Amino acid sequence: MPELPEVEVVRMALDDAVCERSLLSVCCTQPRLRYPVPDLSHLCGLRLQAVERRAKYLLLHFNQNHTVIWHLGMSGQFHVLTPDAPAAKHEHLRLEFDGGASLRYRDPRRFGCVGLSNSDRWQQHPWLAKLGPEPLTTSFTLERFYHDLQQRRCAIKQVIMDGRVVVGVGNIYASEALFKAGIHPKRAANRVAKHRVLLLHEAIRKVLTAAIQAGGSTIQSFARPDGRPGYFAHEFRVYGRANQPCYHCQQALRQCKQQGRSTFYCVYCQR
Ligand SMILES: [Zn+2]
Repeated sequence: MPELPEVEVVRMALDDAVCERSLLSVCCTQPRLRYPVPDLSHLCGLRLQAVERRAKYLLLHFNQNHTVIWHLGMSGQFHVLTPDAPAAKHEHLRLEFDGGASLRYRDPRRFGCVGLSNSDRWQQHPWLAKLGPEPLTTSFTLERFYHDLQQRRCAIKQVIMDGRVVVGVGNIYASEALFKAGIHPKRAANRVAKHRVLLLHEAIRKVLTAAIQAGGSTIQSFARPDGRPGYFAHEFRVYGRANQPCYHCQQALRQCKQQGRSTFYCVYCQR
């Protein structure tokens, strides 16, 4: 499943490829993804002015106050091809822009979703209205983060993955941030000392930023049907490395399950 860094890389790629272009036509061959796909034909003739991201939602802002909200779900992928490129398997939507840019959306598992909003009101859309602070903006403050952690007795990993506390920290980057901050993933959130909360606040921002930077180099593959921004595995310090040596202490890393999801950690470096 794409996490925040992957979605941000997709945002940058879309911004690069189709921003400032006018939409010529829309073709939808799948009436239902996670929810019914709305009719986008009224957007034809409008110009895509900006591509923004909120949590893992992409916001395609067209002129005349129209915004398309798009979530990639488990397996959604965008490609920007030439109009004559054949449709790939599981291609459900095609948006043709001027200048010969054909935006294709593929989604084998169909958990993605597409919604419509006015550009001046997207924050109130039901999918977005209850989202917590965005980790890479000033809305994610140490004060609020510490306050939120103090209210919760469950495992810290579970709390940092709660979108009401901070959005976009998925399973991979939760393990990575806790390792960087030296915090055991099962520690009760309200029992993390303040100086460690500071380290965790910083670590969340650093692991996400590093992943986005690593992913930037994959944008070129966007224009190929087989290419897509992938996970940036070489950056992982603990994720997927069970039984391999910790980069700090050389002891074997461990793996456990929390809420059905795998957690990776170092029992010596994380307390
Ligand atoms: Zn270690």
